[in-house]
Amino acid sequence: MKGLAILGATGSIGVSTLDVVARNPGRFAVRALTGCRNWTLLLEQCRRFQPDVAVLADPEAARQLRAAVAAEGLSVEVHAGAEALAEAASRPDVEFVMAAIVGAAGLLPTLAAARAGKRVLLANKEAVVMAGGLLRAALAESGGELVPIDSEHNALFQCLPPSGDADPDAAGVTRLLLTASGGPFLDTPLEALAAVTPEQACAHPNWEMGRKISVDSATMMNKGLEIIEACRLFGVGVERVEVVVHPESIIHSLVEYRDGSVLAQLGNPDMRTPIAHALAWPERIHSGVAPLDLAARGQLSFRPADPVRFPCLALAMQAAAGDAGAPVALNAANEVAVAAFLEGRIGFTDIAAVIESVLAQYAGPEPRDLDSILALDVHSRDAAAEKIRTLAL
Ligand code: NAD
Ligand code: MG
Repeated sequence: MKGLAILGATGSIGVSTLDVVARNPGRFAVRALTGCRNWTLLLEQCRRFQPDVAVLADPEAARQLRAAVAAEGLSVEVHAGAEALAEAASRPDVEFVMAAIVGAAGLLPTLAAARAGKRVLLANKEAVVMAGGLLRAALAESGGELVPIDSEHNALFQCLPPSGDADPDAAGVTRLLLTASGGPFLDTPLEALAAVTPEQACAHPNWEMGRKISVDSATMMNKGLEIIEACRLFGVGVERVEVVVHPESIIHSLVEYRDGSVLAQLGNPDMRTPIAHALAWPERIHSGVAPLDLAARGQLSFRPADPVRFPCLALAMQAAAGDAGAPVALNAANEVAVAAFLEGRIGFTDIAAVIESVLAQYAGPEPRDLDSILALDVHSRDAAAEKIRTLAL
């Protein structure tokens, strides 16, 4: 039995992870589950999976959970706050940590898991975009390992040579090809984009996800963050990462080799496949995902990404080509802009304007340690909030 902690258990990835765990009885012991405010769902998960500890970021929600747990006589310790999240990720009886908190809030607990030598199952792409270098250094020092959960990066991981051969050049890798669905607005008339609503932006054609990543998919900032994620995880420059729009989301990404071979990983669009892969790697376990029926699918299609329709993609590529601070500024501005859009304070096309303005203000110096990364994150959030005040609807 592998001891498992799930950071962000109450979210889309967290719920899918528990589904895979339940399909493979006797394989994983759930030791820690965390959430932010949704204590009722965390309570249900505690009843079913009986972790030793449950953590909520929000103290009031933790108080409610503690009372409910006591009333039911469950033997679960309940804690609150950011430090407790990091402690849950570094418990000695935990071997695997699913890092599935959304946004910069996931950085510190994910880093704690890496420092403690865990297998980090990494969904929290924002942590990699902000501090991929620190995460990799922490894992190298602690002897931990990382298996990507993001479907594209999990696909690349499966198509690359075994991780011992870490140098892409030595392995003959020429390009990493990231597929992108194009999101819900791939064919929406350009002049209609300014007026789209949060509900429309969150209605992804192929994937059911949390609201922040759904908006990121609609702007294609998600693919932009994933370009940076690929550079950090696999040690390649941005010039070797390419995006191809593939609306069916069946091919999850591809690796091109020097001899012209291109290896792809395919499957139905369901995050339980990469989750099961990462939980069992190098073995294979059941995920509950239906087999892929290619004949029933009929056709797979591809097209280039349109930089006019998706200015966020171009901004992310610009940040990826800059120093390590530019992605921190980009990510912070995006998180603040997406939250403002979801709250109805700015329009959909304003998201790119906010990010562009914050990125234009970034001038270094390049952050090299955690404190300077966190300071740049705060500073960039302030700059984004300032820009939003000038745009507010
Ligand atoms: P979600 O919004 O459904 O869930 C987010 C989780 O994070 C919840 O458990 C929430 O309680 C927790 N959380 C939010 N704010 C927090 C805070 N301040 N402190 C502590 N916990 C907090 O999001 P999701 O769709 O599950 O995505 C999670 C991560 O996985 C994101 O980084 C996303 O980019 C990545 N990812 C998701 C998918 C997907 O299909 N959903 C695919 C690839 C990558
Ligand atoms: Mg992805």
